[in-house]
Amino acid sequence: MIKVNIELVNKEIAAACMKSGRERDAVTLIAVSKTKPAELIREAYDTGVRDFGENKVQEIMDKLPELPSDIRWHMIGHLQRNKVKYIVDKVYMIHSVDSLRLARTISEEALKKQTEVNILIEVNMAGEERKFGTTCEEAVSLVMEAAKLPAIHIKGLMTIAPFVESPEENRKYFQKMKQLAVDIGSKNIDNVSMNVLSMGMTGDYKVAVEEGSTYVRVGTGIFGERNYNNM
Ligand SMILES: *Cc1c(COP(=O)(O)O)cnc(C)c1O
Repeated sequence: MIKVNIELVNKEIAAACMKSGRERDAVTLIAVSKTKPAELIREAYDTGVRDFGENKVQEIMDKLPELPSDIRWHMIGHLQRNKVKYIVDKVYMIHSVDSLRLARTISEEALKKQTEVNILIEVNMAGEERKFGTTCEEAVSLVMEAAKLPAIHIKGLMTIAPFVESPEENRKYFQKMKQLAVDIGSKNIDNVSMNVLSMGMTGDYKVAVEEGSTYVRVGTGIFGERNYNNM
């Protein structure tokens, strides 16, 4: 089941790349494995997936020792500053940095562990209430300030688009984020690259790829529905 789902998602990504004149290998599939047990993650791993997304520090810590060490773990959920120390040397990238305070804590904890961390700035492109992420306007100043911190590298932007009926409704937000990344990139800020655009989930990843996504984060489309009661 998981194998078939991954094949389908990969096919859709390839089709969206083709349609928009992009190279297939410009896009990486992150399998979002939150709430799913290690056995299922292993199943996805065995098909060749190496990038997995989790949104809880505790889950990353529980699963990590049970799974192969060449997995790249992506922290995609809201991150509390007091928990940064547990994962700062364990994750490949933190997608959810939306304040200078959090960026500072990540840098400080990384220094203590003598490591460096790749981060993305999370932007709330649709300006939805109750959602994390900076505004478009704040993103620029946050990038400029966070870029000065010694132990983090800013690699790009992440967004969680609204939950919509038709993925076409989110196309404008993906376009806007691509433009924001181009704008920030053109400022040539030291220690900042805007090569990564983490956008697109099960409902809208095809549109996101067409608009320039480099990381799609697909959970339900690979592992099926999540049951939060089993946790
Ligand atoms: C859960 C989650 C996803 C995956 O969502 P699906 O709709 O199941 O693909 C992607 N990104 C983030 C930040 C998430 O929390």
